Amino acid sequence: MAGRLLRLAGFDIDGIADGPGLRCVVFVQGCPHHCPGCQNPQTWPFEGGEEVSVEEVERRIRATVVDTGVTFSGGEPFTQAAALADLAERLRPDYDLASFTGYTWEGLMARAKEDPEILRFLGWLDVVVDGPFVQALRDRNLLFRGSGNQRILDVKASLAAGEAVWTKDPAWVGEDGSARAEG
Ligand code: SF4
Repeated sequence: MAGRLLRLAGFDIDGIADGPGLRCVVFVQGCPHHCPGCQNPQTWPFEGGEEVSVEEVERRIRATVVDTGVTFSGGEPFTQAAALADLAERLRPDYDLASFTGYTWEGLMARAKEDPEILRFLGWLDVVVDGPFVQALRDRNLLFRGSGNQRILDVKASLAAGEAVWTKDPAWVGEDGSARAEG
C-alpha cells in the first residue's frame, strides 16, 4: 500500500535554532492559527507547498548523516498528524523528535478526542513546544521558542500526568532550567 503524503513547505538540514544539537527541520504547509508577526506566513495556505511521500522525507532526513534530531515545524504540524506519525515511527529510534505547534497542550488534548492520529503522533515525540506566537510576549533571548507563552513540554510525562509538564532535559532548558523562565 502506498504511504501517506506530507504537504511540505520546506526542509532544512544541520539546523541549530529549533532544538538541541544538529537537526533536520521539516516545515509543513498549512496553518490555521495566523499569529500576528508570524515569520512564515507563506506556510499558511493549505493548498501550497509540495506533496512528498513519507518515505521520501525519511530518505532526505537519513541522507543528512550528521543530524541527530528532527524537529517538525510549520505551518501547523498537527494538521498532518497521520502522515507525521508514520514518519516519526520510521525515524525511531535513530533520532530524537520534537514538534512545534500553535495549539496549546490543552487544545491538542481536546482535538485528540476527535482525531486519534494526534495521540499517535505525540506517542513518537520527545518534546512539544506549544502555543501560538504572541507578538507582545516576543523575546529573542528565549531558547528554542519565540514568545514567553510557549512551553517546552516533555510529551511522555505530560501524557502520563494528564497535564502539561515542562521538560527537565538540560539540552532544551539549560542545566539549571533557566531557559524555562516565562518571557
Ligand atoms: S502557529 Fe507558527 S506558523 Fe502558524 S501562524 Fe503561528 S507562528 Fe506562524
